[in-house]
Amino acid sequence: MYGRVHVGNARPFVVFSLLKRFLVHEGFEVTLVMNITDVNDKIYAASLEAGVGSAELAAEMTEAYTADTDRLELGRPDHEPLASATIDEILALIERLVERGHAYASGGDVYFDVRSYRNYGELSHRKLDDMDQGEDVEGAERKRDPVDFALWKAQKPGEDTAWNSPWGRGRPGWHIECSAMAESLLGVDFEIHGGGSDLIFPHHENEAAQTSAARDAPLARLWVHNGMVRLDRSKMAKSVGNIFMLGDALAAHGRDALLMYFCGGHYRQPVEFDDERLAEAGARVRRIREAGRRLAAGPSPEWSRPLRDRFFAALARDFNTPRALAALFDWVSAANSSAAPVGDGELREMLAVLGLENLLAAQAAGAPAEVTELSQTRERARAARDWAEADRLREQIRARGWEVRDGPGGPELLPAA
Ligand SMILES: [Zn+2]
Repeated sequence: MYGRVHVGNARPFVVFSLLKRFLVHEGFEVTLVMNITDVNDKIYAASLEAGVGSAELAAEMTEAYTADTDRLELGRPDHEPLASATIDEILALIERLVERGHAYASGGDVYFDVRSYRNYGELSHRKLDDMDQGEDVEGAERKRDPVDFALWKAQKPGEDTAWNSPWGRGRPGWHIECSAMAESLLGVDFEIHGGGSDLIFPHHENEAAQTSAARDAPLARLWVHNGMVRLDRSKMAKSVGNIFMLGDALAAHGRDALLMYFCGGHYRQPVEFDDERLAEAGARVRRIREAGRRLAAGPSPEWSRPLRDRFFAALARDFNTPRALAALFDWVSAANSSAAPVGDGELREMLAVLGLENLLAAQAAGAPAEVTELSQTRERARAARDWAEADRLREQIRARGWEVRDGPGGPELLPAA
């Protein structure tokens, strides 16, 4: 993490937060851990560039990440361990690998001996000889084999954060950080390890190899990889330069439409971040709000059960949110064509798993605080005769499904039709 969260970073946060909601709904006890790798090459580079200490910069980044993802209003994971707070566990894991002959020290660094681990390549289905660990050339002469990767790196000039180790001062490699953080909270052989599909190799391959070589047990039983968010047909990434910040996306479209946008694609597939898809997601959000106005509180009628079951069956089959949404919208259509008001119980149950339960709550309770605040800011802009700003705020309010009407008694907020 070395910058504000962009929409591509937000996808795994959304996918795994919602997957947890679904599993809890199905009766599982779930512990969701999201690692924060606050020690890595990019942070040292960024800290030198910014002239700020790397520990200070990492703390700032972590705070920004939390603030940005909080705005998705999906709650926090159960644990968000920091690599910098897991150094003892990381060192113990590296020492064990050295003892077992799976790692070797070299010039203050420690490397994993890839050829000592028979099942290497199992996760990413790659052959050893066409592997590139993507590590800097500096370490090349200290490796016994170019396919080996760093577990511990000796402190380099300009790196202001370092820890003592049996091999001298230095800091952990990225892959071992994740293995140690996961193990410290979940043990090994836990059920699901998630992450972006761009991390399968080398990151997840190396995590799996290290833990298995150290513990004679797999790190995780199941690996779940989300597809990339794409902008202009390329993976959204800071290194590519085509990022769209999460904060800007939330301001422009609102969190409901953004969640609906993510649910509109299957988690494993890449998804294009474009106006068409976002407009469609916004329209879907409005459709549910609209239907909500005609619903009654309480249990749903008999006819709705098979649709509700279809929704949960779609999620049970590889978390197919687009299929689940199709069932949900069939439910909405059926409710819309019903002569009598329909009980909203099952719609609420479905929406809650997608993090969208507030679409119905907002009806009953009036405009949410966020919308009221935007409206007050707009009033101040109008008082200052900043009409462009007032119009921009009106659009932001509309993106959240509300309409401002300027009446004689001041502005009034109504759910958008
Ligand atoms: Zn990781």
